[in-house]
Amino acid sequence: MKPNIMPVSLGNYPTPIIKLERLSKELGKSIYVKRDDYSGIELSGNKTRKLEYSLGEAISKGADTIITCGAVQSNHARATVSACRVLGLDVHLVLRTKDGKEPEEKEGNNLLDYIFGAKITYLSEEEFKNYNEVMENIKNSYLSEGKNPYLIPVGASNGVGTLGYFNGYEEILNQEKNLNISFDSIVCTIGSGGTFAGLWLGNEIHNELKNIIGISISEGSDYFKEKVQNILKETSIYFDIDFKDILKKSESSLDIVGGYQGGGYAISTKEERDFIEEIALKEGIIFDPVYTGKAFRGLVSEIKNGGFQDSENILFIHTGGIFGSFSYHKSDS
Ligand SMILES: *Cc1c(COP(=O)(O)O)cnc(C)c1O
Repeated sequence: MKPNIMPVSLGNYPTPIIKLERLSKELGKSIYVKRDDYSGIELSGNKTRKLEYSLGEAISKGADTIITCGAVQSNHARATVSACRVLGLDVHLVLRTKDGKEPEEKEGNNLLDYIFGAKITYLSEEEFKNYNEVMENIKNSYLSEGKNPYLIPVGASNGVGTLGYFNGYEEILNQEKNLNISFDSIVCTIGSGGTFAGLWLGNEIHNELKNIIGISISEGSDYFKEKVQNILKETSIYFDIDFKDILKKSESSLDIVGGYQGGGYAISTKEERDFIEEIALKEGIIFDPVYTGKAFRGLVSEIKNGGFQDSENILFIHTGGIFGSFSYHKSDS
């Protein structure tokens, strides 16, 4: 089943699937990680897959300038900048800082935004509440210069970006055959919902009976259930099939786990950082402090608390975020 849109090619696929041997022994389950952190365009993680579709649509519409937004350390914003440079497109970011000023010391993702020469508009937390309006204004000013701008929403978690993980799901089905493993559960981080929505949709369209589980790192689960339902409605226009039953099912059967956001979005607690170090030491794999560290900690806690009873083989999607590690070393709570 292919969506009716041509993606651009940005990533290195298939991304490897590895088994965490020592953790698996400890938990009595087989824990696998899909290394989507290796996806490509400067280790852009899950954003590479989404941008292949968002930018595919942009190019098919003749766009020359991409506008998107996020927090100052946004992986998505930086991934968009590097992808635009690969494709020869101009890029304008709307980024949120505490006071709306440009950071004096550039670090992490934001440093890369500069190296790639992105145009950046900084907004304070208050101003950022109207980011959609700000992006529309920027879009209009490009239009009046005779440019052809294309807007990508937060995290590229809209109908088109989500197709990247519908495609990623199909990649997993192929890898299952090659590796001779059947995953009972696929677990991912939820930051804005697109990754989860794409995996869930793949599972539905392919009539698989896997558990697709999202672990939120910011808002509670009800917020994301609604968000994901809305994304799925948008995604339906890219398929030539009837989505009625799929959308109906999404109203009652989205498995989204809350409670692991700790101090909130992009705030890293000592327990979370200790967990990231424990896994790094045990398995030689680094999870990031904003997304995957929290979600993977959630997965391990759920298993230790007796969850995942019906799952022997569990696949966690490593959605990337390494550059976050180079700026959150200072964050504390
Ligand atoms: C953006 C991001 C996520 C969240 O994915 P969504 O599709 O927005 O839910 C997870 N992990 C990392 C590392 C990210 O950068």
